[in-house]
Amino acid sequence: MSAPENPPTVLLVEDDPKMRAFLRALIEGNGYALVLAETGAQGITAAATHTPDVILLDLGLPDVDGLEVTARLREWTQTPIVVISARGLEGAKVKALDAGADDYLTKPFGSGELLARLRVALRHAARMQGEGGAVFEVDALRVDLATRVVTLGGEPVSLTATEYKLLAYMARHAGRVLTHRQILVEVWGPAAASRAHYVRVHMANLRAKIEADTTQPRYLLTEVGVGYRLASE
Ligand code: CA
Repeated sequence: MSAPENPPTVLLVEDDPKMRAFLRALIEGNGYALVLAETGAQGITAAATHTPDVILLDLGLPDVDGLEVTARLREWTQTPIVVISARGLEGAKVKALDAGADDYLTKPFGSGELLARLRVALRHAARMQGEGGAVFEVDALRVDLATRVVTLGGEPVSLTATEYKLLAYMARHAGRVLTHRQILVEVWGPAAASRAHYVRVHMANLRAKIEADTTQPRYLLTEVGVGYRLASE
């Protein structure tokens, strides 16, 4: 694959040499520019000096852990952060997302999954900078954020105010995982942060209206132990 003239730059913060070599080949092989850091401190410095377009951050680092790195980066930059965590550490993933990470990958992951996460993070950053339209569309689902019209296969879908707010929030962050806490704070306000059942109930109602088979959702995907993701591809 030939590299575009101004390829997006990925900052990889990873202490494991094998993982670093694997990711380096994959990222550079797919046309991205790459900056490497082996510790949290190096990662923070590299983020400031190289202004990457996306940061791929291992949570288990030898000096400062990835959670702390995420929190420190979020003090001054909105560059998307995709964290890499070991399997089974749902708690750490949720903490990283709540600290401002955009998404996560669980080891072991495939190259397709990694590349999809990078694309979503870059698209999302572009959307937040005002590039890209106010219409979200995937498969038969269309959400027009300007006119607040939701259609499924061209047919209007009638939603309650809360269901629309929930779907619109997910559409603005399509492809990204959103934690229960993030959804609660955004849709119901900070006072509702611990009321996870609000999300469950309204998500079930929303699925009943837009999913052909609510047991195998096409759009509103569950991330077990973490939250939800609106499919974007
Ligand atoms: Ca590590």
